[in-house]
Amino acid sequence: MAEISWELFDRQVAACTMCPLCQNIHNKVPGQGDKQSPLMFIGEGPGQVEDEEGLAFVGPAGQLLTRMLAAISLPRDRVYICNIVKCRPPNNRVPEEVEAEACKLHLRMQVALVKPKVIVLLGSTAAKNTLGPEIRITRDRGRWFERKGVWMMPTYHPSALLRDASKKAEAWEDMQSLRDKLMELGLYEDIYGGAK
Ligand code: SF4
Repeated sequence: MAEISWELFDRQVAACTMCPLCQNIHNKVPGQGDKQSPLMFIGEGPGQVEDEEGLAFVGPAGQLLTRMLAAISLPRDRVYICNIVKCRPPNNRVPEEVEAEACKLHLRMQVALVKPKVIVLLGSTAAKNTLGPEIRITRDRGRWFERKGVWMMPTYHPSALLRDASKKAEAWEDMQSLRDKLMELGLYEDIYGGAK
C-alpha cells in the first residue's frame, strides 16, 4: 500500500467515483482546517453553500458551529473539520449506508493524517458511522467514548439546532464538556493559546 500523505488524500478524493453522489455536484468538499490539530469535528455531508464553495461548514450551520467554538474560546482555524461524505447528497438527504461506507476510505485516511486526540461527532450520521449503528443521538449525545486512545463525543449537528432551538441548551452542555475534556487532556491551551 502506498504511504499515506495529504497529496495522496487530495488526489484520491478528487478522482473518486466510488459512489453516485459525485454525479450532481459542483465541488467535492474534502474538509479543511488545522491539519495538526488535536481536535477534529466530523459532520454528515456538504450542503448547498459547501458544495458551491468546496469548503466544509461554511453555510448557516457552519457559522453556528464557529460561534459554538467561540463560546468556549476555541478558534475555528485551529481545529480540523470534515464530513462523513465528501459530495453533497441531493436535497441534503441523509447519505445512504453504501455511500457513507464508500467514503470512509477517505475519512480513515484523514484521521490517520491529522491524528486527533479528540473527535466531536456532529449529528446522528457521523455518530452512527463512527461509533456504531446502535448510537442514538438523543440518548448518547454528550457521552464520551474512547476508541484506540481517541476520545469521541456525539452531539447535535448545528443544522438540528437551527431547526429546533430547544436543543441548544444540551448542545451548550456538550461544548462545555468538550472544553473540560480538552483541559483534562492538557490540550485546551494547545488550541486556544496559538490564536491569541
Ligand atoms: S461521496 Fe465520497 S465515496 Fe462518494 S463519490 Fe464522493 S468522494 Fe467518492
